[in-house]
Amino acid sequence: MSELLTVTDVVEYAFCPIFTYFGNVLSLKQYEQRRGTIQSGRKLHETHEKTNRNYVPDEISGKKLIGVKLYSKKLGLVGKIDEAIETEDQIFLIERKFTDSTIIGKTLKVQIGLLSMLIEENVGKPVKTARIIFQKEHRNVIDVPVDSDIQNIAQDSLLKVKQLIKTGIMPDSKFDNRCIDCCFRRICPVGSLNTI
Ligand code: SF4
Repeated sequence: MSELLTVTDVVEYAFCPIFTYFGNVLSLKQYEQRRGTIQSGRKLHETHEKTNRNYVPDEISGKKLIGVKLYSKKLGLVGKIDEAIETEDQIFLIERKFTDSTIIGKTLKVQIGLLSMLIEENVGKPVKTARIIFQKEHRNVIDVPVDSDIQNIAQDSLLKVKQLIKTGIMPDSKFDNRCIDCCFRRICPVGSLNTI
């Protein structure tokens, strides 16, 4: 039986394939508690799960879903929906990001794509839009259309993670800003060469 992956595993691959190699092939532990951004982001999710349970955008009417865990045998994947609204004919996904950068990058596309596939398989309703709420110093809201392009990007990354785990070969990556806050930078052949 193949290994069950989480949405986070695949998002990490989109962040950096070597990161996945350390975590999912070598099973090295992440020292996330040292990373302030991740802790602040988690706190934001936890706060909204507890205090903002009834937030529904004005233009959407439906049932609020919070902290729903989903599993797909077909994809070999589990994931958690932090917030969503179930309307009569669709699921409106809500994601909160603890940052002022409003770039819809690959990691976000992979996360939205995989969550939308999990929802569609489990709930049987399409995900047409993901509302991204960027919030740190400022608050910016962007609605991202969830289409086949986003789902294909997500599925491609999922397949690549499975392939990496199967072969166990360290992939390539390059040094850039991601490495500066990476918990593996001191042992990574790419990150360590550039770490003082
Ligand atoms: S240090 Fe850079 S290249 Fe190495 S795992 Fe981290 S992000 Fe990837």
